[in-house]
This record gives sequence, structure tokens and C-alpha cells, in this order.
Amino acid sequence: MTIDIKALESSLLAGKRRGLAKALTLVESRRPEHRALAIRLLTSLYPKSGQSHRIGITGSPGVGKSTFIEAFGKFFLEQGHRLAVLAIDPSSPKSHGSILGDKTRMDELAVHPHCFIRPSPSGLSLGGVARRTRECILLCEAAGYDKILIETVGVGQSETLVSDMVDEFMFLQLPNAGDQLQGIKKGILELADMVVVTKADGVFEQAARQAVVDHELALHFMQDDEDRLPVRVMMCSALEKKGLLEIYDLLQSKLMELTQSGRLEKRRSQQREQWFVSELNDQMMDLLLQDRSLKKNVEKLTTQVIQGTLSPTEAAQQVIASLGWNAGKE
Ligand code: GDP
Repeated sequence: MTIDIKALESSLLAGKRRGLAKALTLVESRRPEHRALAIRLLTSLYPKSGQSHRIGITGSPGVGKSTFIEAFGKFFLEQGHRLAVLAIDPSSPKSHGSILGDKTRMDELAVHPHCFIRPSPSGLSLGGVARRTRECILLCEAAGYDKILIETVGVGQSETLVSDMVDEFMFLQLPNAGDQLQGIKKGILELADMVVVTKADGVFEQAARQAVVDHELALHFMQDDEDRLPVRVMMCSALEKKGLLEIYDLLQSKLMELTQSGRLEKRRSQQREQWFVSELNDQMMDLLLQDRSLKKNVEKLTTQVIQGTLSPTEAAQQVIASLGWNAGKE
């Protein structure tokens, strides 16, 4: 395909969905010639990014993420915001499907003219997912989306990855999770800016109230970071539309406080630094693997590392030495 980057940029900046969708496809492409174009586009649009409120949402499968996002997303749209929903699903190569691949999810949001939903592309490594998501955020912001929800299924490292990209990170928990609080990964709670107990309705309502208390207690012993605002525990029923407005108001007031206290800018500057480091890694790897003989050499060394005949450190050093750099010399 031939790509007119200027035309693509104008279409995206004019708020055309097709322009944004094409730009996203370009940044997701793994072909080296597309990568060069993607970098041109991203560089040109970078000054127009950064103006959105970025919110991460995580929780185990079945906790109610898509039902919550469908119900909650409408509050943003009713307030005149433009909403983008991005999914991160590093497990998709294994489960053969992305978490948003199912078209029946969020079908009301999906048809709203001010809402853009992008499923997680499959087959990307965790690093690939991180790069693609950061770039997706940048493109959506340049296209005028001012609220960005980033959904990830709680399967390990993806939460850390998302919390490194967002202003506020919400952790969804089931009403009966209180019983398992000992068992849940403390790490996730440490990343959360807000905990939301879902399905607080019918027979679950009492359990949800108890789960709120249990989480508040657990957090009470954990929090000690002056860069973060106190973590609040909320509960809601997305099915009965209860508790959603309170969560919306809390998010908005936290955003204001984060902005006014300078915490938001601090968090974002740290995130920009992390982005640079990981982009440097990615671009170096891209360059390395574009060179046929180097790529072959890397493949050969990878086989030896897998077989256990060469140490990973030695293998990496050999690659660096073949570039003419002095790795590991004293
Ligand atoms: P996800 O896998 O985290 O995206 O979870 P889903 O949104 O697909 O929800 C999983 C199941 O929980 C579905 O059967 C939903 O109907 C149900 N569910 C979601 N939200 C609520 C809620 O607020 N109350 C009740 N009772 N059930 C809910």
C-alpha cells in the first residue's frame, strides 16, 4: 500500500474516524517501511497530544469490565467528551482472540459518533503491546479524544504496563473478593488509584459492602506515597446503573486535584522518560533485526541460548561486539 502521510494526518486531525483507524493500522504494522512512516506521523502529531484524561481499568475476566465501561462511558459522552476505549490483551496470542474482539461487547458505545473503540491486536509481545498502546493514545489525543479508557485483563504484567501510561488506574473487584483478599496480588492494589467493587446489586449487595470495608482495611496498611492521592474504594452496579455517577464525580475531582497539586505533571514526566527508554530499546532492536546478517546471527545465538550452550549475557555481548561496540570491556 502507498501511504500519503500528509493526507492521513489531515484526515486524523479533522476528526475523521477512518483517518484515525488507518493511522492506528499503520503504527501496528510490523513492516519496516511502515515503521518509518509511522515514526514520521507520530513525530508530527506529538505536539498535539497530551491533552486527554487517561484512565486505566483492570480486573479479572468476568469481573464486569465491559459492562462497566459500556455504562460508565456514557457519562463521558453525555458530558460532551469524546471517548476512546483501547484494549490491552497480551494473552491474546494464546487465547486466540482479543478481549474486545467480541463484537457484542459494548455495542451501544461502539455506535456512538463520539466514541472510538479499538480492540487489542493479537500476536504482540508485551513490549509490542506497550509500544502500540502508547502510540494509540497519542493518535487518539491528536484526533481530539479527550477521555481515554485503557482496558486490560488482569493477567500479570499488563497492569504494570497500563499503570505506566495512565493518569488514574481503576481496579475492578468482585463482591466476594473480600474472602480472597489475602490471595490477590498485593502488587495490583499498590498500582491502583481507585478500587471499584462491581455487581453491587441483588444478592451480591451485602457482600459488596463488606468487600469495600475489607479493601479499605487492606489499603490502610499499604498506602505511604506522597506522590499519590489516597486510594478510594467504591462500589457500583453497572447493570442497575447504581454508583456510577459517584465514581465519575470522584474521577473528575481527583483529576483536578492531581493537576492542581502538580502530581499529574510529575507522573507524566516520569512516564515520558520510561517511554523514551523503552522506545530506544525497541528502535535498536528494530534496526538490529532489519540487517539480514545480524538477524541471522541473533537467531543462531538464540538457538544456542535456548539449548543452554551459551549464556544469555555472552550471547548479547557477541551481538554488541559484532556492531563494533565495546561491550563488557574493562
Ligand atoms: P469482563 O469479562 O470483565 O468484561 O466482564 P463482563 O462485563 O463481560 O461481565 C461478566 C458477567 O457479569 C456478565 O454475565 C454480566 O452480565 C455480569 N455483570 C456485569 N456487570 C454486572 C452488574 O453490575 N451486576 C450483575 N449482577 N452482573 C453483572
